[in-house]
Amino acid sequence: MNADFRCVKAGYTIKSITFVVMEFSSKLIEKAVNEMSQLPGIGKRTALRLVLHLLKQPKEQTGFLSQALLNMREDIKFCQNCHNISDTKICEICANTSRNHQMICVVEDIRDVMAIENTGQYRGIYHVLGGKISPIEGVGPSQLNISTLVEKVKSGKVVEIIFALSSTMEGDTTNFYIYKQIADSEIVISTIARGISVGDELEYADEITLGRSILHRVPFEKTFKSN
Ligand SMILES: [Zn+2]
Repeated sequence: MNADFRCVKAGYTIKSITFVVMEFSSKLIEKAVNEMSQLPGIGKRTALRLVLHLLKQPKEQTGFLSQALLNMREDIKFCQNCHNISDTKICEICANTSRNHQMICVVEDIRDVMAIENTGQYRGIYHVLGGKISPIEGVGPSQLNISTLVEKVKSGKVVEIIFALSSTMEGDTTNFYIYKQIADSEIVISTIARGISVGDELEYADEITLGRSILHRVPFEKTFKSN
């Protein structure tokens, strides 16, 4: 069916804020655009472009996309050990017996796990907090996977904890909150080194920098006691 989808766009500028009003000739397109534009970084214009792109593709392509998203939502799990997103109850990293299970790197989410894994420099396991303490955004310690980390440390099976959260006020607050709860344990508590430049012409500079940051990690206490 050769459908004619027309879109009338009108732009209004009020005090430097531009509102785009779209009038659709198809309610089906409008609904798809509205859903697509709920995604971060996708405005109405981009959403419309994506929707029209899908219409030009074979119908099964949209089916593959829809099914992949549904399967992802339906079947995704969180590792029972480290809370990382996983296809299985225990993620591949935690299930790997050749890794050092006594060394735990504390990260915010799966993107940090992927970034550190890409460095190839780390052979311990992870603990994914699921965010950072942020009073402004209403995220408190109880909403993060902190208590299970403290339990792991108190179980006596951990030798070292490496904080690898971003160097922001929220990251520092979260590090310090956790540190206060585990400071009396007999383990090494370190944090990744910051600002080691390896030259910006390298294609993988970020991975190298991150890899070195892990290798040259510093005792966590030094990061606040020297101030
Ligand atoms: Zn895991």
